[in-house]
Amino acid sequence: MTHTHNAPSITQVRHLIGGEWKHASDGATFESIDPHDGSLLGVVPKGTAEDGQAAITAARHAFDSGPWPQMSPKERAKILHAVADKVDEHREELAQLETRDGGKGINQSLHAEIPRVAHNLRFFADYASMAANEAYPDGDLLSYVLYPPAGVVSAISPWNAPLMLATWKIAPALAFGNTAILKPAPQTPLTAHRFAELALEAGLPDGVLNVVHGFGGEAVAGPLTSDPRVDRITFTGSSATGVKILQAAAPNHTPVSAEMGGKSANIIFADADLDVAVPMSIRAIFGGNGQVCLAGSRLLVQNSIMDEFLERFVDEANKLSVGDPKDPSNFIGPLIEQRHLDKVHGYVELAQQEGGKVVTGGARLTGDAHAKGFYYPPTVITGLTNDSRTAQEEIFGPVETVLGFDTEDEALRIANDSRYGLAGMLFTQNLDRAHRMAARWKAGTVWINCFFERDLRLPFGGEGASGLGREGGQYSRDFFTEPRAVTLRL
Ligand code: NAD
Repeated sequence: MTHTHNAPSITQVRHLIGGEWKHASDGATFESIDPHDGSLLGVVPKGTAEDGQAAITAARHAFDSGPWPQMSPKERAKILHAVADKVDEHREELAQLETRDGGKGINQSLHAEIPRVAHNLRFFADYASMAANEAYPDGDLLSYVLYPPAGVVSAISPWNAPLMLATWKIAPALAFGNTAILKPAPQTPLTAHRFAELALEAGLPDGVLNVVHGFGGEAVAGPLTSDPRVDRITFTGSSATGVKILQAAAPNHTPVSAEMGGKSANIIFADADLDVAVPMSIRAIFGGNGQVCLAGSRLLVQNSIMDEFLERFVDEANKLSVGDPKDPSNFIGPLIEQRHLDKVHGYVELAQQEGGKVVTGGARLTGDAHAKGFYYPPTVITGLTNDSRTAQEEIFGPVETVLGFDTEDEALRIANDSRYGLAGMLFTQNLDRAHRMAARWKAGTVWINCFFERDLRLPFGGEGASGLGREGGQYSRDFFTEPRAVTLRL
């Protein structure tokens, strides 16, 4: 057994390559630690470039000679449903593992993210077997479209929603008949490892899903982005890494789908229902410990309600309980690692240098309950303008920057004045205005009077530094297949 069920045991992680569990080619390992108390959770192979190549060879073999791409979508769906059933059966275990490895609140892991893992699998299994194909009868010509799988997919994922984002890639890649290599983030390797075990148990053929562990460009991830035997790269992570991956992929013309950073505006108009807008805005920035790409990290409040809104918002922020993410009564857990905590705090210091005022929070928590973990409190900053670095750069922590505005045009101008374009939130009772703004917003997703609602049929992705391409429903099919037009003269 290579997995753990109870808190104190240590997971001995291995690569999964061609159905076999492997150490790194040079035997090197690294440790995965619990950001709550620094305890050791897993010993993980520190993958080499050779390991990356071996995984590509295995995925290539499974694609070129294996049954997977030739199976009908229905047959593949049966196996992917079996994998989803396994995830459901092991929901509690996976949620505990996710929460310990990444510090995500247990409520979120148990009730949102691990269920979403199963949903990702079921959704794409069903989508691939049920989606309509185009056909165009035109006089004596009949044209139709085939969607053969692209081939070998590299999937590179971040630490902030580890298994949910990994399966957001793996599920469509496999459902459309590709084989894949997953490289989870080194901070959070444990659920990907356990998932791979469950997938094999559920009957996924060897080599269809390969999982390698370790770090970026020079190491295991190098070949995953630069080897010509890879047909698609799907990446979620920071915009800086995204650029490196695009550069690595360019010489081979390998298509890349990149879901990257964000600095989304959350706009509160004076006519908003504050009983909805306040709690949603709290969730939009402090949910997931603030480490959420979609976070509403620029809070734009109409000046006529600024005082009232801010008072209620700060009040609610101060009520959030910060602590052990395994305790369901806590809302905010630890940040992922020391380096990240330093980055987040560095931005709070920068905000003050830029003339901002820290209204609440702003210093690492060091009391008994927090001393061993990377704990940072909900922090609210006012007094800055949108051209400050604090308002322009992605902090990726529980830090909200509050900006004022007077008119709809001004709000939209501020919202769109960003290199990012991932999401936007808008709270108003004026639906004319809401639709007008959605149409002019530089954002891949706009939420009106809600936040974080996801229908997997919709395109997901961002503009500018937030992304390249879209995934979800037909958009995933377009990316993970090689659409082919066939025209026949009757
Ligand atoms: P990151 O870019 O540091 O790492 C992401 C993954 O890329 C990791 O697996 C990492 O090991 C790998 N990697 C790093 N360098 C590489 C290289 N040169 N070649 C190949 N792979 C490499 O990001 P992170 O810190 O893990 O995640 C946080 C970032 O992810 C934030 O910017 C956040 O906004 C973004 N994110 C975006 C979305 C989205 O859907 N748009 C979702 C979640 C997170």
